Amino acid sequence: MLFKIYDNQTNLPYEMELDELVARMTAFNSGGSTEPELLKAFAVMARTELARKTFIYGGKGCESGNGCDICTEPGHCLECGLPEVAVETAVEAAVYDAVKATHKKIILFDGRPIKPYFHYRCGGATENAENITGNRITYLRRVLCTFCKDKEDIDNEKLFTVPELEAFLKTRFKKPDGVYYNIQGMFEDIDVDEQGKVNMVKIGSRTYKGVEIMELLKLSSTRFNYIPVKFLIKCIGTGHGLGLCQCGAAEMARRGSSFDNILKYYYTGVKIEEMQLPDAEKPLKGVRLVLDAAFGGEHCDDNRGANGLREKDANLDIVLRLKDLLAQDGAEVHLTRDRDTEVTMADRAALSNSTRPEFFISVGQNSFMNASASGTELYYYRGDTAGEKLARLMLESVCASLGSKNRGARTADFYLLREVKASSIILLLLYISNPQDEEMLSGEAFRQRAAEAVYHAICTYYRSRAGKTTN
Ligand SMILES: [Zn+2]
Ligand SMILES: [Zn+2]
Repeated sequence: MLFKIYDNQTNLPYEMELDELVARMTAFNSGGSTEPELLKAFAVMARTELARKTFIYGGKGCESGNGCDICTEPGHCLECGLPEVAVETAVEAAVYDAVKATHKKIILFDGRPIKPYFHYRCGGATENAENITGNRITYLRRVLCTFCKDKEDIDNEKLFTVPELEAFLKTRFKKPDGVYYNIQGMFEDIDVDEQGKVNMVKIGSRTYKGVEIMELLKLSSTRFNYIPVKFLIKCIGTGHGLGLCQCGAAEMARRGSSFDNILKYYYTGVKIEEMQLPDAEKPLKGVRLVLDAAFGGEHCDDNRGANGLREKDANLDIVLRLKDLLAQDGAEVHLTRDRDTEVTMADRAALSNSTRPEFFISVGQNSFMNASASGTELYYYRGDTAGEKLARLMLESVCASLGSKNRGARTADFYLLREVKASSIILLLLYISNPQDEEMLSGEAFRQRAAEAVYHAICTYYRSRAGKTTN
C-alpha cells in the first residue's frame, strides 16, 4: 500500500510504501535498539498510527486539506513527524526483520486502530489517560511496571533558585516572618536572645550552640539567620507516562516476552490483528473524489461544436456516468455540479478544498480555431507525483479505449490546478471544434466508453496502491 505524503518543507507530495514508512518510524522511535521483540512492538505501533489515517479505517488523511495521507510536520499527523533519513545501517537488518515479521499487524480496540502512546520510562506505573489528556481512553489505563526500575533516568534532576521558581510558576513565596526560618527536619527549635544572637538551634538530627555553628561554618558572628535559596527537583521516570513504557518494554523483551504480550501488557484490552487492505474486487471503497464537469450555466453557452453540441452537456453526461461507475465500487464521489448550473472556478476549488478528496478530476473538451485539431490531453500540477501518475494512467486508458490521438500529459499553472489543494487533473477529452470528435461525443455509447476508460484508470491506480502489501 502506497502512502501519499505531504512534505511541509518543499510543499510537495510524494509517495512511500507503507512498510518503508513503518521501518523509518520504528528505527526512529525505538532509539537504536536491536532487540527483536521490542522492534516488533514498535513496528506494530507505527503501522497502527499510520492505519488510523487511512480511508480503510475511516481516517481522512492529513487534515490540513492537501489530500495526502500524512504530512511530515511533527505533531500534526504523526507524533514524531516523519524521519527524513533512511534507516541507519547499524539497525537496518533488525528493523526490516521486525517489519516483515509483523506484516500487516496493527493494534485494535473495538475494531479501531488505537493511538499508540509511548514514553521513555514510567518509573513504576503508567498513567490513566484522563490525568494527562483530560479524556478517558479505555485502553490507556494505569498498569504497574516494575520492568523499568533498574533503568537510570536521563536528566532527571533540575536545580532552581527561588526567584526562578517564582518566575516559571508565576507564583510568590511567603517571605519568612522575622529573620529566622523554621525548615522542618533541617533547621528547627531555634533559640535566640534579645540581641538576635543564636543560643541553640537544631540542625538535622543534632542540636548545636550558636558559637559551635559559628566555628564549624566559619561564620563572622553568632548573630545569623537563613533562608532557602535553591530547590533541587528530582523526577522518577521520563515522559508523560501514557501507554507503553519503552524501558519496561525493552526489559520485557530481554526476558523473553513476545511483542504481542508486551503490547497487550501496556495497552489494556486491545487485540493485535492484521490490517484490512482494500478489497481487490472493490478497490475504491472509502476513496473520496471530486468530479468537475467544466462550465455549466447559461453564461457558458459559447463552447459548442459546428453541429450544435454544447461542451457543458457532453462533459456533464460523461461525469455523471463516471460517478455511477465509481460509486458502484464504493468510492465517495462529490460533484461540482450535477445539472446545467453555473459554478465559478473559485466555488469549484472551494468545494474541493472543503471536501478534501484524494483527487479532483475536471473533465472538459478542447477547442481550437483549426477544425482539424483532435486528440486528448491532460494537465496536472508541477511536482504532484500522484497527480502525474493518475494522469498518465488515464491518458493511456482513454486513448487506447477511444482510439483518440495522444496529445500528452503535462504540467500547467491553471487556476484549478493551483487553487485546489488535492491532487488535481484536468482531462481534455477530444476537440469540440473538430466535427468528427463532436459527432463521437454526441453518442451515448461513446460517452459511456469514455467514462469507463477514466474509471479503469482510477481502479488501476488504487489497485497498485493497495496491491503491493498483499503480495
Ligand atoms: Zn498532517
Ligand atoms: Zn516502566
